Amino acid sequence: MKKIIVATCNKDKIKEIREILAGDGIEYLSLEDAGLRGINIIENGSTFEENAIIKAKTVSEATGLMVLADDSGLEVDYLKGAPGIYSARYMGEDTPYTIKNNYIIEQLKDAEGDERSARFVCAIACVFPGGRVITTEGKVEGLIAYEEKGEYGFGYDPVFYLPEKGCTTAQLKPEEKNLLSHRGRALRAMHKKLTEERIL
Ligand code: IMP
Repeated sequence: MKKIIVATCNKDKIKEIREILAGDGIEYLSLEDAGLRGINIIENGSTFEENAIIKAKTVSEATGLMVLADDSGLEVDYLKGAPGIYSARYMGEDTPYTIKNNYIIEQLKDAEGDERSARFVCAIACVFPGGRVITTEGKVEGLIAYEEKGEYGFGYDPVFYLPEKGCTTAQLKPEEKNLLSHRGRALRAMHKKLTEERIL
């Protein structure tokens, strides 16, 4: 089976990536699976796309292989786009998400209706040996909920409310979330590009 490295150590992300691309006959390996945990990635870009390219390029240069990467996060309009590209590091990398989520809810206590607008954004980068880069992006629009709800998903899912579904992304089963998520959209677009180029 063909194997492709995804430049992430995030177990939730690699799980979703495998679910979204399931059935394509490729095994997607995290840095841990590939024995590459020690690679130092300096994520100092100013956009999701730049950070996805940095991750994929660092690992591609270290291995000489084609590498995929995901950079993603939550943009809250009332907070001027925060936490954005700092979503993982917001309030500290090891701070439990229930604390981060309730802090966001607290900051939006005076926001009503459309003032609570937010989106998940995901950039996927594919870097080839020699340095060629392909990127795709996916977004999903929603609102910040008034309280955390749901047990599925990870991170900010319990506070990300989808008006058209009447629930948060943490209340959606994985297959339902993957159909409409930022990550699902960006990954399917990448898969299409790579298939059209006969790389997959
Ligand atoms: P990255 O690893 O630097 O791309 O940071 C991604 C961070 O964005 C995650 O650790 C979460 O905090 C947040 N995030 C990205 N995608 C999702 C999602 O699908 N659900 C909930 N939180 C997400």
